[in-house]
Amino acid sequence: MKRLIEYPLRLFLFMSTMPVSLKAKIVLQLLVWVPLLSTVYAIFTLWGRFISLTDLVILLVGYTLCALGITVGYHRMLTHKGFEAPDWIRAFFLICGSMAFQGPALNWAATHIQHHANSDDDMDPHSPVKSFFHAHIGWILDDFRPDLQRYAGPLLKDKLVVFISNTFVLWAFLGLLIPFLIGYALGGLSGGGYALLWGGAVRMFLNHHVTWAVNSVCHTYGNREFVTTDQSRNNLLIGLLAMGEGWHNNHHAFPRSANHGMHWWQIDPSAYIIGTLEKLGIIHKVVRIAPERLAIRRISADVSEERDVLPGLHLSGVVMERGTAMVAAATTVAEVVSHAVAQQSPL
Ligand SMILES: [Zn+2]
Ligand SMILES: [Zn+2]
Repeated sequence: MKRLIEYPLRLFLFMSTMPVSLKAKIVLQLLVWVPLLSTVYAIFTLWGRFISLTDLVILLVGYTLCALGITVGYHRMLTHKGFEAPDWIRAFFLICGSMAFQGPALNWAATHIQHHANSDDDMDPHSPVKSFFHAHIGWILDDFRPDLQRYAGPLLKDKLVVFISNTFVLWAFLGLLIPFLIGYALGGLSGGGYALLWGGAVRMFLNHHVTWAVNSVCHTYGNREFVTTDQSRNNLLIGLLAMGEGWHNNHHAFPRSANHGMHWWQIDPSAYIIGTLEKLGIIHKVVRIAPERLAIRRISADVSEERDVLPGLHLSGVVMERGTAMVAAATTVAEVVSHAVAQQSPL
């Protein structure tokens, strides 16, 4: 029971590095419970009233923008520098990510880099090695605080990132105000209320749990194509729901890669968006992995590559904590490649 009471508070504090006042604690509690209860209420109204086309569009558009804000913005662009973008694109994706209510961008990045640096080890903030529940939401109960200086040092010099991160609350609540105003314009107060329910609370609930499923499901269920020192998996369902982030074994093998899907059949909407922006000449220096490197990693771990998560960040002393990596017995690159090609199957 104590944990149930503690849960909503920790849920909000998990990304915070600041002491939180009583007033803030109350607000944070509401922000956790309202989406959960609203989703239950929304499901009931679905049977009695049926969700309107407007509500559905607001939910889907809101979910997609916030999800891309996390996957393209927070994760591939900010945390791993998978591509370079002009400030207006960076601001757009980081603001969309903030609207997903997963904490300020800098805190999210530091938490995620700590995960890469210690994946499925004692220092991993959210590994299912402890338990599936711990990896999904239980880790939030463990008083976790991201260490920005240690894990996100290079990002602290980026003024745009620091500004959007520091004004996180503003953008997060804008993510609720926008659906309400659209619904209000189309259907008055009741329209605004339902739009807020589906496009705000339910959308937030789905964004949360799909992201958390990458931490829990994708380190437990699925296939492993590449040799890594952790338990990361490729999972089709999470791949689809999380805009391509479910190809998580691929991602741990090549953290800097802008593409997480490494085959045509590994659907990766975030990579399609990145590829389109690149073709339009809007973003540059997109990190992609050569087929030879993919082949080598199918049978051989490379700790230095796994820990290359953010340019300019030196994790020595952090990465060494996990011990020695598995190394394949193959002696030459040609031998490794030919073996890997022979092993490869499309599904
Ligand atoms: Zn992972
Ligand atoms: Zn990552």
